[in-house]
Amino acid sequence: MEKIHHWIDGKLTPGKSGRSGPVFNPATGEQIAEVDFASVEEVDHVVAVAKEAFEEWRTVPIAHRIDVLFRLRDLVDKHKNDIAQHLTRENGKVLSDSLGEVARGLENIEYAYGIGQLIKGEFTEQASTDVDVHSIKQPLGVVAGITPFNFPAMVPMWMYPTAIGCGNTFVLKPSEKDPSAPLFTMELLAKAGVPAGVVNLINGDKEAVDRLLEHPDVEAVSFVGSTPIAKSIYATASANGKRVQALGGAKNHMIVLPDADVDVAADNAISAAYGTCGERCMAISVVVAVGDVGDRLVDAIEARLDKVKVGDGIDPDSEMGPLVTKEHMEKVAGYIETGVKEGATIVRDGREDTFDGNGYFLGLTLLDNVTTDMTCYKEEIFGPVLSVVREESYEEAVELVNVSPFGNGTSIFTRDGGAARQFAHEVNCGMVGVNVPIPVPVSYFSFGGWKGSLFGDTHIYGPEGVHFYTQSKVVTTRWPDPATSQINLGFPQNR
Ligand code: NAD
Repeated sequence: MEKIHHWIDGKLTPGKSGRSGPVFNPATGEQIAEVDFASVEEVDHVVAVAKEAFEEWRTVPIAHRIDVLFRLRDLVDKHKNDIAQHLTRENGKVLSDSLGEVARGLENIEYAYGIGQLIKGEFTEQASTDVDVHSIKQPLGVVAGITPFNFPAMVPMWMYPTAIGCGNTFVLKPSEKDPSAPLFTMELLAKAGVPAGVVNLINGDKEAVDRLLEHPDVEAVSFVGSTPIAKSIYATASANGKRVQALGGAKNHMIVLPDADVDVAADNAISAAYGTCGERCMAISVVVAVGDVGDRLVDAIEARLDKVKVGDGIDPDSEMGPLVTKEHMEKVAGYIETGVKEGATIVRDGREDTFDGNGYFLGLTLLDNVTTDMTCYKEEIFGPVLSVVREESYEEAVELVNVSPFGNGTSIFTRDGGAARQFAHEVNCGMVGVNVPIPVPVSYFSFGGWKGSLFGDTHIYGPEGVHFYTQSKVVTTRWPDPATSQINLGFPQNR
């Protein structure tokens, strides 16, 4: 059985705790590897390594850090197919999705090329008599990233390019479900010239995470995962005095107004609901059909469902792969069950599709006439299930989004510019699309939701990422003339 180890101080490091977990190929149901789980002592060791590396790395000239990031970008691009193979094999997503994930990760490395400009301070001459003032942005020290299973290569890239570009050192704790892609990128970091200890990867579960959250030498924690865990990570890490950004789950609504082009809306709903098997935090899980568009829209979506080819993600013809684990597949099927029991109309039941082998496949499901009291509406399903809620008016549709406990992404499909503009203004959500179903911001904006989709006050990557990974210092300077120097006990009044 393949063993998946940690990456500490620039090299593969077998675990010593004696604890490990299984890694499966979701397309076959076979266990393909065993991943080491770190103990408290191993976390302490990796943090000590990162702390030592920080002393040197923070002094490395920015021009050199940028060089390293350029080389890293080229290596990730050159090896994108290798990374995609790891992603598909352990996560299940189809190869084209895996390549898309790498491409979106690359953007964040490219953004960090601009670090010289991004961390530039300010200078004011003669702020007071013979007094100059300047500000600088300095790194924090050792920062940690804890990442989810659904984007195992990209989400760490939301963090470490910016973190190390700013001069920090980084400890990544990826999901234990699909750890090979992030581990493979550690080798690329080393090849790019990132010095040993600057980026480290520690595999593990709650034990490793809990130690990172309380470790006195971890200055900041970036977390991406489900809402209950995000909330507890925020509470624990901030109680331990750390900076925290904890991004949680979602329930994203796509509002379709009666004037929308129904074919365009249906195509977009299919891509956004079932792409990556619905395992995206920006997936559309609810379509809100306003007014008389409901029947036309449901018919148009239904007509497209049977055309989506579900199969092993390694097969280039597959458009949707399996869910990540057997337990998750059963949980998603459970939401379909309760949806039907609670009164939703099942237009297409993915549970009826049959697949060869023991993979964690579930077909595409469409539920109509879903109401806000149903479990399938209230909870994040994170699978290939799209719910349609029907509302009479635009105002009722917006209210649905605004009272949702989640606030990650939302979109509106319409030809009415005024309605779209009003929607962008009044909707309570961090990321808004106008005729764009998955409005993930490009890397030079920042990504983040509102309400239960983000705990903390800083969004991730982009300018807010730079802010998160730096602390400001303001230096006030005077070069006194000994001839005019004098004692002055008063509060300075000279302006
Ligand atoms: P998860 O919360 O189960 O796990 C995320 C990370 O936390 C993993 O590294 C895991 O090992 C660790 N973890 C799990 N349970 C823990 C515990 N009790 N204590 C400490 N650490 C723990 O999430 P997941 O299932 O891997 O990922 C899917 C979830 O992530 C979905 O809810 C999805 O919406 C969310 N997500 C959000 C975003 C975003 O940007 N808001 C992006 C991607 C995924």
